[in-house]
Amino acid sequence: MSHIIDNIAQIRKRIAEAALRASRNPEEIKLLLATKTVSADNIKVALEAGERIIGENKAQEIKSKYDELLGVPHQKHFIGHLQTNKIKELLRYDVTCIQSIDRLDLGEKLQARLEFEKKEIDVLIQVNTSNEESKFGVAPEGAIELTKQVSMLPNIHIKGLMTIGLFSAEEEKVRVCFKLLKSLQQQIVALNLPDVEMRELSMGMSHDLEFAIEEGSTMVRVGTAIFGKRIYADSYYWNENM
Ligand SMILES: *Cc1c(COP(=O)(O)O)cnc(C)c1O
Repeated sequence: MSHIIDNIAQIRKRIAEAALRASRNPEEIKLLLATKTVSADNIKVALEAGERIIGENKAQEIKSKYDELLGVPHQKHFIGHLQTNKIKELLRYDVTCIQSIDRLDLGEKLQARLEFEKKEIDVLIQVNTSNEESKFGVAPEGAIELTKQVSMLPNIHIKGLMTIGLFSAEEEKVRVCFKLLKSLQQQIVALNLPDVEMRELSMGMSHDLEFAIEEGSTMVRVGTAIFGKRIYADSYYWNENM
C-alpha cells in the first residue's frame, strides 16, 4: 500500500507549496483524510505513516471500522450529512468534531442527546457557499443567525466553519465560495459571541485545495488524491434520499 504513503507525501507537498504562495505557515493547515469507502486496513496505513485526523460521512461506516482502528491514535471527525435519527449511534464512536451542523433542529437534538449522555462535542457550521441544491449546509444568509443559535447550546462548542466548494473548472467561481466562507468567519469573529471560536476553516478537497489554502483554509479534507477513486458517486453521500 505504498501508493497511499506516496500520495500523502504529494498532498503534503501541495499543501506546503500553496501555503508558501500565500505567505502562510504550512503547519497552520491540517490534513483530514476523507475515508468514506476506504477500508480500515488502508486507513491504518495512512495513520501509521503519521496522519492524525480522519473524516467519515456515515455513522454506519464509522461503526464498521471502529474496532479495527481502536489501537491506532487518531481523531475522528464527522463530515457527512447528519440525520437526527443517527445522532445517538454517532455518539458511540468517539467522534471529536461534527463538521456538518447546518440547521438548528439538528443542533437542538444533538444538545439533548449530549446532555443525556453527559458529553460535549466540537462542531463546525457547514455553509452551502455554492448555492447548489445538491449540497447541504446553511445558506450563507442564514449562517450568522445559525451560529448564534447553536452557540447557546451548552454542550456544543463551535470551532469554525466548513464548506464544499463549487465543482467547476472555473477557478474564480470556486474561489468565490472560499472567499465567502472567510468573510463569514470574519463577520462572526467581530460579533465576539460567547463560546464561539472561529479558528477553523475546513475547506478544500483533492481538486481545489490550493485555492482553498490561498483563501485561508486551516483544514483540507482529502480522499481521492490519497486513496484513489471511490466506487460510489459522491451523490450517494451527499443526497438526502440515499
Ligand atoms: C468525500 C469528501 C471529501 C473529499 O473529497 P475528495 O474529492 O475525494 O478529496 C471532502 N469533504 C467531504 C464533505 C466529503 O464528503
